Amino acid sequence: MVSVWDTNIQFLPGVGPKRARELDKDLNIKTFGDLIQHFPFRYIDRTRFYAINQIDPELAYIQLRGVVRDMKIIGAGSRKQRLVVMIADPTGTLDLVFFKGIKWIKDKIKTDTEYIVFGKPTLFNGKINLVHPDMDIPDSQGLPGIAGLQAVYSSTDSLRDKGFTQKLFSRLVSQTLTRLEGHIRETLPDYLLKHLKLMPRAIALEEIHFPKDLKNLQAAQTRLKFEELFYIQLGLLRQRSFRMRAGDGIPFPKVAEAFNECYRKLPFALTGAQKRVLREIRSDLKSGRQMNRLLQGDVGSGKTLVALLSALIAVDNGYQACLMAPTEILANQHFNTISKFLKDQDIPTGLLTGSTKPAERKKLHENLRDGSLKLLIGTHALIQDTVIFHNLGLVVIDEQHRFGVEQRARLWEKTNGSPPHIMVMTATPIPRTLAMTLYGDLDVSVIDELPPGRQPVQTIHYPASRRSTVYSFMRKQIRQGRQVYIVYPLIRESEKMDYENLETGYRDITAAFPAPLYSVAVVHGQQKMENKAFDMNMFVKGQAQILVATSVIEVGVDVPNATVMVIESAERFGLSQLHQLRGRVGRGAETSYCILMTGNALSKEAKERLKLMCETNNGFEIAEADMRLRGPGDLEGTAQSGLAFDLHIANLAKDGQILEWARMEALNILNEDPLLESQKNRLLKEQLEVLSRHTVDFSKIS
Ligand code: ADP
Ligand code: MG
Repeated sequence: MVSVWDTNIQFLPGVGPKRARELDKDLNIKTFGDLIQHFPFRYIDRTRFYAINQIDPELAYIQLRGVVRDMKIIGAGSRKQRLVVMIADPTGTLDLVFFKGIKWIKDKIKTDTEYIVFGKPTLFNGKINLVHPDMDIPDSQGLPGIAGLQAVYSSTDSLRDKGFTQKLFSRLVSQTLTRLEGHIRETLPDYLLKHLKLMPRAIALEEIHFPKDLKNLQAAQTRLKFEELFYIQLGLLRQRSFRMRAGDGIPFPKVAEAFNECYRKLPFALTGAQKRVLREIRSDLKSGRQMNRLLQGDVGSGKTLVALLSALIAVDNGYQACLMAPTEILANQHFNTISKFLKDQDIPTGLLTGSTKPAERKKLHENLRDGSLKLLIGTHALIQDTVIFHNLGLVVIDEQHRFGVEQRARLWEKTNGSPPHIMVMTATPIPRTLAMTLYGDLDVSVIDELPPGRQPVQTIHYPASRRSTVYSFMRKQIRQGRQVYIVYPLIRESEKMDYENLETGYRDITAAFPAPLYSVAVVHGQQKMENKAFDMNMFVKGQAQILVATSVIEVGVDVPNATVMVIESAERFGLSQLHQLRGRVGRGAETSYCILMTGNALSKEAKERLKLMCETNNGFEIAEADMRLRGPGDLEGTAQSGLAFDLHIANLAKDGQILEWARMEALNILNEDPLLESQKNRLLKEQLEVLSRHTVDFSKIS
């Protein structure tokens, strides 16, 4: 039997099959429960009326009271046809604009009549408009339960055009709540509600839509956000406690020849942070529990070396280790770097990527299977089915956000004995709240110190009109023996266009930096593998002074002699991406520069991003700001992370405190009852099961 909560929305009076289809299509609302969980995204104080001369296009929704003076249809018959309703109050006049349902609206609205108008100001041709506002005659029927605060629901243009006004949403929600009375399941045990002083779910769901006052609204929000975050944490942490109890990690008790010799021969001393992180890893590896560690460190902080030394611990204990990189370029580079560090040591190391020749591949496979190959570096090719290890003890995944959860899960299948230790490295600093949510079951190590002698990269913003200044600066740097990156944006929707961008750019650059005086290399996604490798190599070896590229070079590439990073159309990049790109320079002892080139018309948000880039080199600060500006759902990596990221109400950028609280409560509960077996926690266990049916299977993911 279908519960009331799961009743199809079409059975709500005033909905029906057609509207139900529209709600499903645009907002993914299928059932009563879905509608109730379509939480308002803001509230407006409908006791407040704005005067027309106070209205500012930056305001969100506003309400005003005015008299309709005039109505006219502009551009009749054309595709731009619109109805403009002029409304006036004692302070001025304002246009209300309608593009759809014109005839119907025109018949309904009466001139010289007072209306309450509610909508979002927009700026069009320098004039403020309200597009498709709600209009009511004062003292017409009141909305249910409004005592000042009224919910505003997110919607789509197409729904609005079909008559789904804010008023209709409110009415539908109100009707649904009536039907659900007595049928809303509590999802937190009573003892927790009491102990944490949280509002019961049924009340919270009512207050969130129709708050009696601000205090109740806040209590309702807290309750619902807590619940949402709490269950994510409880699920992740229970996973972790399973692992801790299992005790099936491979113990690596010793550190011996392989590690010590490499360590002794390092041309520099490890930073304090590298040492600390190695100690953390070391203690995981000898514990007998499986390590699952996230290693965060800003670009250039020396993660590769930490990865190598960790892998050598595996080797010292008779196991194999592998390092996976997101791109072939990076895998090559890691292989070269690591081979250099290991040059006089006898540690068989292999490189396996998409372009490894079949014969060589076959040999690698054999040596992996019989255990003679100790260290394998590669790309995704590494986790293809045919690769079988003799005894894989440690997996390091570099720049993890390119690897989906699925791919991590497949690693698990590479062994039949104990699962390998796993270390995930990322140079995209992740805000704490996001890390707790995406990797809440992992232990986290942070390299928060750069090797000595690094100078912060000087970041400068130039409009494209000052290109010649930038070119002469580049010439100067090149004369001093340095190298320059020029990066063009990559738009997913149109690889072709990217390429055109880059091609035009490349032509301009070769004209401004002609051969034989200069040599310009080019790297992009549509190139043949060998061409890409050839050009990349020219740059790495210092034979090309300029590398023109799409953002494929974003991650990992290490050319210490490159001191200038020019980013074209910088406004089209996200903050984290800009920071990643900037991390390609500033790797040597010389002062480095990052030049952000943009067009002239910049959005407010783009300006903020560029300003921040010029102000700070701190990756964590940038990551926090990125999350604030874009919202956690859009952050790089989260989309592919596999974690169901459709938080209904909590916001990782804003609800850090509730998240910490939820995590702490979840930890407390699991400390006392690790597998949630006690009677009082039965509801928690059940609810986790209900939720897990809607999300990924975490049990296979390490
Ligand atoms: P990440 O992967 O964290 O961005 P890398 O591992 O590529 O950084 O290291 C950047 C550069 O710094 C490399 O050339 C590496 O050899 C060098 N490096 C690493 N650790 C140190 C250290 N402790 N002192 C000096 N240089 C270091
Ligand atoms: Mg790296």
